[in-house]
Order: sequence, then C-alpha cells, then structure tokens
Amino acid sequence: MIYNEEFETLPREALKALQIKRLGQVLQRVYHTVGHYKKALDAAGISPDAVSSPDDMQKLPFLTRRELQNNYPFGLFAVPMSSIVRLHASSGTPGRSLVFSYTRRDLDTWTELAARSLVAAGLTKNDIVHNAFSYGLLPGGLGLHYGIEKIGASVIPMSDGNTKRQILLLQDFGPTVLCATPSYALHLAQEGKALGVDMRSLQLRVGIFGGELWSDATRDALEDAFGIKALNIFGLPEMMGPGIASECLEGRRGMHIFEDHFLVETIDPASGRPLPEGEEGELVFTSLTKEAFPLVRYRSGNISRLIPEPCRCGRSHIRMERVLKRSDDMLTIRGSHIFPAQVEAILRNIEGVEPDFQLIVDKVGALDAVELLVEVGEKFFGEAGGVKELQTIEKRIVKDMKDYLSISPRVKLVAPQTLKSKDKQVIDKRIV
Ligand code: ZN
Repeated sequence: MIYNEEFETLPREALKALQIKRLGQVLQRVYHTVGHYKKALDAAGISPDAVSSPDDMQKLPFLTRRELQNNYPFGLFAVPMSSIVRLHASSGTPGRSLVFSYTRRDLDTWTELAARSLVAAGLTKNDIVHNAFSYGLLPGGLGLHYGIEKIGASVIPMSDGNTKRQILLLQDFGPTVLCATPSYALHLAQEGKALGVDMRSLQLRVGIFGGELWSDATRDALEDAFGIKALNIFGLPEMMGPGIASECLEGRRGMHIFEDHFLVETIDPASGRPLPEGEEGELVFTSLTKEAFPLVRYRSGNISRLIPEPCRCGRSHIRMERVLKRSDDMLTIRGSHIFPAQVEAILRNIEGVEPDFQLIVDKVGALDAVELLVEVGEKFFGEAGGVKELQTIEKRIVKDMKDYLSISPRVKLVAPQTLKSKDKQVIDKRIV
C-alpha cells in the first residue's frame, strides 16, 4: 500500500521539476524574510532566482549547525510567532541548544509524511501502535503520534521509561506495532525476558526504529527478540522529526526520502564538493515546503549513501542507506544529541573543575551508559582537601548534565594532570 500514490510514485523527471519549482519558492521566501539568508546569498553574489536546475544547488552557500546556534533562539524563523503553533528543541546548554518551529501547515505535512512512513511499513487502521519514542521537546514521540492517528490506527502514547509498565501493556493491550529507539526496544526485550515474559509471543508484527545509529546486526537482534520485522525511520530534529525518510517492506536496505518535500545532495565532508549519486558522503538537506523554519543546504553531519536504483515497491523517491557514521563529533546518547563542547561548557561553569575531561560511552545491557572523568583542582587532593567538597562538585556535575543534556553519567573526579590532552576526550565503546 502507498499512502499518497500521486506524489510517492511521481516519475523522476516530474519529481525533479517539482523540486526546482519549490526550491525557487523557498529561496524567494527565505531571502525576503530571514536576515541570515539575505546576507549569505548577497555575500555569495547569488540572486534567489538563480537556481533553475539541480546542478545550480552548488552555487548556494551551506547552512551549518553553527549558524543555527548563532541565530538561537528564533533568528532563522521565516514567519512571525503568531503563525507558529509548535516549538521543539534539542538538549543543550544556553547558546548551544537549538530550537525548531512548525506552522499549522508544517505539522500537517509532518503528519502526512509520518503516515506515509507507517503505511510503507505495512500499517493499516487495524493496527495498535505502542509508541515508545520520547514525547516532549524531542520530536520523536509527537511526530509519529499524529501519523498513527491519521491512518486510523490506535496509538498508545507510551513515551520512554516506566519499563515494567510498558511490558505489562505490551501483554495486555496487544499492540501489533512497536515504535522506539533500537536500544530502548532491546532493553524492553531484555527486561521482559528477565520478568519471564515470552516477548516473541506478543501480538507485535512490525517495529519502526530510529533516533540513533543502528546496524543490521541490531536489526537481526530486534527481529529475533520480538519475532517482528524491524524497519528503519529517519528524521533530522533540525528539519523535521521522524518522517523525512523511511523504509518500505520491499526494500529493507534503504529509506525512501520524501523528495517532494526534501532535496538531498551528497558532498565530500572535507572539501564540501558534490559527489556523484551513490557515493558515500555527507548528506545535505534542503526543506522544500517548510514554512516556519526552512533550511537551505543544511549539512546534516550524517554520512550515508544514496541508492538510485528503483525500488520494487513502486515508490519513485530515492533511498538512503542507514546512517552509521557522522562527519562531526556528535554523539547520540539515549536519544539525545550531545557534543563534547557542550559537556565542556557545562564543566567550565562549575567552580573547582579543571578543563580536562573524558567521556566514556558504553552499553550496559542494551542501554547507553556514560562515565565522565573530570579533573578537579590540586587543593582537593592535598591534606586540606575535603571529601565533602568533592562530593558537592560531583553532585553538581551529575545534576547539570541531567538538567542540560538529559544524560546521567557516573562521575569520577580525578587529580589534575591525570587526563592531559594526550587522552582522547571521547571514547565510544558501543557497537551499534
Ligand atoms: Zn520501496
């Protein structure tokens, strides 16, 4: 089944023509409403109507996360606040957090794209969907929620956490579909097993997973643990939550990018030069229909590969392979996007803490676990040093990491010069 037959199967020539038409409209709009774009296009000597073919994209300047930060909170919005009906935000410290907005029509588009993704995964109105993506400032939970309602399926707005209760409802309500991050789904499976529940005998048929890097080995583990088909969904919180791309039941080796709403390019992350379709590189996205927060040539940081070959399902939209690498140092920890610079900024504001730290990310069971080694001043380790002061610092670090970044690290305070710059600031031991 295809949710929007007309647009999802549009012949590629017509799709490209539609993209160029919509791109022209976006460029006009952002040039006249968002100071940043006017400045950037003027500086590059580009008129907003200079783009008449996909090849012209290269003339346009990139947009990076730095520009999003510099325009925090509302500097890149293209409509007045009276037209905005929803705000989402990334976790982060003041000045380093990002905020994203949607008009009524943007939410309708997102709902349709979530609905397309769910139908591509074989869902119908007869399904019951256990939605364990986080509901809140992160866009996962709410994004899929309205798509599930749109296709007439029943949604259980579970959010993440309360694992024992989740397992109870999985047994009692008999959902046929599970939506979650892959690591939380594996955690559910392990906890269920520990409670003596046969997770393969639940009613679940399909799982829709995303929000973090995950491999085919994890797909196998999820399919085995629940006795389901596990499918991948892709979103960029900056642009739109889950529903930018998603897997169909036929392909299962790549996600269709909804190209009537997003234009995607592949570039060499080092030089910024465009790469031929099908080569591995950083994906750059342009939103073609977003009203509140349009992004033009946004460097996503995701390393992947486009799959130009047609798919058996009949959708004409190009597919992207799963993302297993980043071009920057962003970490995804329990669904939150974290940069080492954010950790550093938080530590700098805590008295007694020295600048060097080390973040060690690993799995405990299926879930991410973080250890944070932080240097503190010499005085705490001398004769006059007090255990009490060290405990106060440790508690403050734990609290600030939780408050700003939604992570709960195990903090270990170490003497100065223990870490030095020779040590890697981040050690990621996780195998996805
Ligand atoms: Zn397909």
